[in-house]
Amino acid sequence: MTTTLPSPELIASFIDIVGSANALTNPADLAPYLVESRGLYKGTTPMVLRPGSVEEVSRIMKLASATRTAIVPQGGNTGHVAGQIPREGKADIVLSLQRLNRIRDIDPVGNVIVADAGCILADIQKAADDHDRLFPLSLGSEGSARIGGNLSTNAGGTAVLAYGNMRQLCLGLEVVLPTGEVWDGLRRLKKDNTGYDLRDLFIGAEGTLGVITGAVLRMFPKPLGHQVAFAGVGSVEHALALFDTASSLCGAALTGFELMPRLGVEFTAKHIPGVRDPMDTVHPWYALIDISTSDSAESAERMVHELLEQGIVAGLVENAVIATSEEQRKALWHMRESMSPAQKPEGGSIKHDVSVPVSSIPSFMKEADAAVMRAMPGARICSFGHMGDGNIHYNISQPVGADKQAFLDRWREMNAIIHGIVAKYNGSISAEHGIGQLKRDELVEVRSPIEIELMRRIKHAFDPAGIMNPDKVLRAD
Ligand SMILES: Cc1cc2nc3c(=O)[nH]c(=O)nc-3n(C[C@H](O)[C@H](O)[C@H](O)COP(=O)(O)OP(=O)(O)OC[C@H]3O[C@@H](n4cnc5c(N)ncnc54)[C@H](O)[C@@H]3O)c2cc1C
Repeated sequence: MTTTLPSPELIASFIDIVGSANALTNPADLAPYLVESRGLYKGTTPMVLRPGSVEEVSRIMKLASATRTAIVPQGGNTGHVAGQIPREGKADIVLSLQRLNRIRDIDPVGNVIVADAGCILADIQKAADDHDRLFPLSLGSEGSARIGGNLSTNAGGTAVLAYGNMRQLCLGLEVVLPTGEVWDGLRRLKKDNTGYDLRDLFIGAEGTLGVITGAVLRMFPKPLGHQVAFAGVGSVEHALALFDTASSLCGAALTGFELMPRLGVEFTAKHIPGVRDPMDTVHPWYALIDISTSDSAESAERMVHELLEQGIVAGLVENAVIATSEEQRKALWHMRESMSPAQKPEGGSIKHDVSVPVSSIPSFMKEADAAVMRAMPGARICSFGHMGDGNIHYNISQPVGADKQAFLDRWREMNAIIHGIVAKYNGSISAEHGIGQLKRDELVEVRSPIEIELMRRIKHAFDPAGIMNPDKVLRAD
């Protein structure tokens, strides 16, 4: 595999495929493709290729395969584990899917949308909406993240509780293999038990097995009723009990159940323009509850009132507000989605994206909080997340006045503490963000040798030359 700069002839051959306007080599043009939003990784590359067709992607991969040139697929570059960033000091070529951004077909009766992998998530949501349908994947990064990236990270987001993550939202894929061969698996079938599920291998593979170029995505009828409530609760235990009540009462209509700490609400109100604490009372924890119903607007309204009433009577809900307009619903979700960015002005933040069985969340949080405070007195724990999915973003902000770099230098130590507790609960060190470069060396510690060996064999079967996003997920041999 090429680790030194490709020869001028090879560079010229790649340029020939996409045309000079779509082959970036100027350092200023390359710069945005080499850094990620958290600023933890910075890569190097001789060039960024921006193909405009599946055929061009195929020709690029054929040439890369023949010359053993490493290729790093990139969508919207919003990934949190640096899978999309080329390795530092190597000569990986970035393959940007930005220009493959056409919606190929929409079938409202079959409830599917067929799209190029470079389509922006928000554009897919809008296309579904224009056809009176819902594409339910929703993330804070939806204005930039692209479908190929969503699929390759098996993205989760805010509606997993009701609709599942990206794996559940995809029926078929089109993939260019490392050899340049094209696998057309753009099937629109809900039921298809014909051998090994190749689609499921590419979803969540973080670009290490092939380049996704197109997908068949599932749409849903638009809900008729939608209610969002924000409830102050006294403890994580009470939040869990409220979640249990909500699940029984709402069933499939419970679309989201998010947990937020007081500190997170304070951070967002202080740092995010337009966000304010919706209550005039203070509570240790908050639950954001999203209910959407398919039968009528009234049933969602009934459910949200009934839930809060039951919560108050049971002593679980201390105070609550119900959004009365779409604008207010968006504002409550905006506050939730701003939890992570609001930590930035508070200095360094050590982040975790973990999951444990839902019923273990209170004891996991108690143990984790105690261990963090023992190791780092003064640390400001700002753990929040998709409680209904058992997924907590266990983030730690630096102590007030601490040195940011000295704090960040303890990232691995804090990871070991939190991930050690996650292991006790048989949880996951990456609930929705993936492995990439950030968690690659930890993966081998948390998965059994047989699991890692099977992953290596799969990687080798698809990519024997090791050119497909090397050193991501698994260390290259
Ligand atoms: C503000 C913010 C909020 C976020 N919230 C969430 C959240 O709630 N839930 C969640 O799951 N994630 C979240 N993320 C993480 C991120 O947005 C998702 O991982 C997203 O799915 C990545 O899409 P992307 O197009 O930016 O992919 P990139 O960052 O460009 O790439 C991600 C990975 O996919 C690979 N890849 C990209 N395109 C292709 C392709 N066509 N073929 C093969 N491999 C490819 C890359 O090589 C890389 O390994 C958030 C990020 C931000 C910045």
